[in-house]
Amino acid sequence: MSFVRTLRGDIPKDQLGFTYSHEHIVCRPAFWAERGENDLLLDDKEKSKLDVLDFKCHGGQTIVDATAVDYGRDVEAVYAIMEETGVQIVGTAGFNKSFLWNAKVKEELKPIIGNYNTYYEWIDAKSINELADFVIREVEEGLEGTPFKGGQVKFGTGYNRITPLEEKTLRAVARAHHETKAPVHSHTEVGTMGLEQIELLRSENVNLAYVSFGHMDRNPDPYYHEQMAKTGAYLCFDGIAKIKYAPESTRIHLLLELVRKGYENQILISGDTARKTYYKHYDYGLGLEYIIAKWVPRFIDEANKAGFDGDKLVEKFFVTNPANCFAFKR
Ligand SMILES: [Zn+2]
Repeated sequence: MSFVRTLRGDIPKDQLGFTYSHEHIVCRPAFWAERGENDLLLDDKEKSKLDVLDFKCHGGQTIVDATAVDYGRDVEAVYAIMEETGVQIVGTAGFNKSFLWNAKVKEELKPIIGNYNTYYEWIDAKSINELADFVIREVEEGLEGTPFKGGQVKFGTGYNRITPLEEKTLRAVARAHHETKAPVHSHTEVGTMGLEQIELLRSENVNLAYVSFGHMDRNPDPYYHEQMAKTGAYLCFDGIAKIKYAPESTRIHLLLELVRKGYENQILISGDTARKTYYKHYDYGLGLEYIIAKWVPRFIDEANKAGFDGDKLVEKFFVTNPANCFAFKR
């Protein structure tokens, strides 16, 4: 029986419904707060909730919150938004690309991971299996000491490189996946190093059909995408609306290329909205409603004009594929 693990508990995967696969909802990263980067703080639960309600008004049902430990995540607030809006939220266990660390982060994490001065000190001090145990507890007991459990396990690597400590977290996440059967999510920096991550995951015997790779659209390279998709992995296009990286036409062209090559069952879509200025109710941004309300109709129009069935593809990208990707397979 396949299920998806939301913050409230496990649900049959066919109850997931219309899903954004990589978002951020309430987080106050102490590292950015210290530097005065106010735009990066999603620090008002009520404002975040209004954007989640907009998403719901347009038919949205589930959001995957891809925030991992150390990024000032407010698990309690995210859970409260799920309860108050009825939008299902999936939480994330595991690691970010590398920790943005300062004295406050150290104090916040002390009850969870122990007394370490830096991220590197923590990861270096632990064995791979000890780190895997940390991830397993986040999936089976709860995130950051709460009773709300992670529904996927995450690791990440840097731009065009994988450090030994990043490799260690990748292996820990792979082992936590084997133990818990939780789906795996990868952060790729600017979409790079996906194939190198895949080699490492294979050395840990991970079946790539359980893995989604984030930020693939940051590297708008159809040949690369094909090599990734050939492995059976999911490709997450989570930069919708970020025209600063590429116009929408580029992402839609890349998506239709993947469909043309037969990979329509491995595509996920989201907006990775991690700034106040991306949210409508914080700072006049396009908001969480943008993809479902505006992008989807445009995609359907372009897909139909290119000879595809746009409605069918939207159903796959936002409903069927997330249901399969985020299911625990036992
Ligand atoms: Zn993200």
